[in-house]
Formats: sequence, C-alpha cells, structure tokens
Amino acid sequence: MTDMTDILILGGGPAGLTAALYAARAGKSVIVCEKEGFGGQITQAHQVDNLPGLPGISGLELGDKLCSQAMDAGVQTAFCEVVGIHHHIDGTFYVETDDGPMNARTVIFAGGAKPRMLGVAREEDLIGSGISYCALCDGAFFQNQDVAVIGGGNTAFSDALVLAGICRSVTIVHRRDSFRAEEAVVQAVKNTPNIKLMTPYTVSELVGEEQVEGIVLNDGTTVPVQAVFVALGRVPDCSLIETLVDLDEAGYVIASESCMTKTPGLFVAGDCRQKTIRQLTTAMADGTVAAMAACEFLK
Ligand code: NAP
Repeated sequence: MTDMTDILILGGGPAGLTAALYAARAGKSVIVCEKEGFGGQITQAHQVDNLPGLPGISGLELGDKLCSQAMDAGVQTAFCEVVGIHHHIDGTFYVETDDGPMNARTVIFAGGAKPRMLGVAREEDLIGSGISYCALCDGAFFQNQDVAVIGGGNTAFSDALVLAGICRSVTIVHRRDSFRAEEAVVQAVKNTPNIKLMTPYTVSELVGEEQVEGIVLNDGTTVPVQAVFVALGRVPDCSLIETLVDLDEAGYVIASESCMTKTPGLFVAGDCRQKTIRQLTTAMADGTVAAMAACEFLK
C-alpha cells in the first residue's frame, strides 16, 4: 500500500497549480500529477496580457513561476499519466498511473481541455506533417513558408502574429465575418502585411499525401500552404472521472459552488468544469476554491 496523500491534484495547469499552492500553504500533503508539461495550455501563449499584475509575461515563464512557487510551498510533482480513479467504500481514492498507484483522501481533477480538431479527412494522419495545434511549439519548422491558421479567437489571432514573424505568409481562415479575438489583437493582425484574412470560409479538405501542401475551402478555392495551425478552442477530456461525476451535454463536469462533484471528496477546477467564463483568472479562482473546499472536507 502506498502512502495516503491529503490532496492529489490531477493536472498541472494554472487551476491545478493554484490549488496545490493553497493546499500546501494550508499544511496539507499535496501531489500534482501531470502527463505533458507543468504549466498547462498557458505555456503555449506567446504573451499573456490579461493576468492582472503581470502584463506581458510569456506563457512559458508564467508556467515556470506557477510550478516553482507551488514546489517551494512543499508541493510534490509527479510526471505521470493517470489511467484510472477508484473511489473506495471508506471514502478514499485509489489512483492508477503509468508510474504506479497512489492513494489520496481527496482528489482535485484539473484536467483542462484538449484542442478541438478541424474534423476533416486525414487530419490525424497529418499531425506532425503540417497539421499542428501549437504555433509556439511548431512554428519554427515553417520558416519562410506559407501557413494557414484556422479560427477566429484570441489563440488564432495571437498565433497568426507569432507566425507572421517566422513565416512568409499567414492566411487566417475563419467561418464568420466577426471574431471572438479581442479588438486590439484583431487590429494588430490587420496591420500586419503578411497576414491575410479569409472569411467566412471553412476548410473542407487537406491537400498533400505525406505532408500538407494546401487546404481546400468550402467554395472550392485551394490555398497552397505547408502547414495548418488549428486554433478552434478546446474541448474537455473528463473520461477518467466520467463514472464518478455528472457531465453536461458538452462534456464539462457539473460541480457545486465549492467545486465539489457528486462524489464526496472529488473536486473539479479549471476549464473542465461547467461554467460560463474560461479564463486564466477563473481557472486560478477555481483552483483556490477547490483547494479550500478540499481542506474543509478533510476536517
Ligand atoms: P475560442 O475563443 O473558443 O475561439 C475558437 C474559435 O474557433 C472561434 O472563432 C470559433 O468560431 C472557431 N471554431 C470553433 N469550432 C469550430 C469549428 N468546428 N469549425 C470552425 N471554426 C470553429 O478559443 P481560443 O481562441 O483558443 O481561446 C480560448 C480562451 O483562451 C479564450 O477565452 C481566450 O480569450 C483565451 N486566450 C487568451 C489569450 C491571451 O490573452 N493571450 C491567448 C489565447 C487565448 P466562432 O467564433 O464562429 O464560434
């Protein structure tokens, strides 16, 4: 039998690391499990301008700071993939990971969300061969080439600005004539000579066998590009806890105001929770609430 941790946090993004910080400062033993990279999706943001007090911080630096602050407070981190969560009759949790089992009195699920796919044929086959969901990670592979960004939100527009500094041309394809992206970012895109906006269009086909060579739009136009950066927002991935919680129609976890799910001792924080505003600040707020509620539950 492994040791019993007070609060096991699944997901090392802003929600999970904020929860970890609060729980550790409250004197609890805390482990954060993360399978990809501590810091979460925010580490893919070139620059974060909507975190009050830290204007212009890079996503990577923010991720590093969140992680090191939590570790300095006594949080343990585990780089592992969680493959199963079981709720015992005694109220504790048995969590299976690819690095062995863990036991916990409470669990905070902060699994975030994964990129929404474009949904066109051969998209999955071409991942890594011109299809990417992270401009910051993969943009440098397409230096002086022509690329497309799909989407009309802040991610698509900030990605386009980053790519415009690396690539010869960037074509943004969006399904509507108006954008979710903030006006300041939209203006910056419009003022960038090597970014072209194509609206209202959707992508109906990918061109290229082994490597992306272009996209075909819904009106039949072919746009020759060597890479497609998909920035269509994210969808929750709550399959690990689906038997322990209620999910809404879109797959988000339904929780009380204290972030507790229908399973006592299982909390949810961040983008995977059902709510109206998914922002860095609301993810951190969830982390705070879930941690304090878990501490209260442990009493
Ligand atoms: P988002 O705001 O949800 O935007 C997703 C975009 O994809 C929308 O334009 C949407 O079109 C489009 N879309 C969704 N499904 C589609 C489909 N099946 N086919 C075609 N288009 C589709 O996602 P996001 O841009 O990733 O941003 C997520 C959150 O992070 C936002 O709150 C954003 O403000 C924040 N963020 C902040 C920063 C920053 O401050 N530095 C950077 C990035 C992101 P419609 O508009 O037509 O629905």
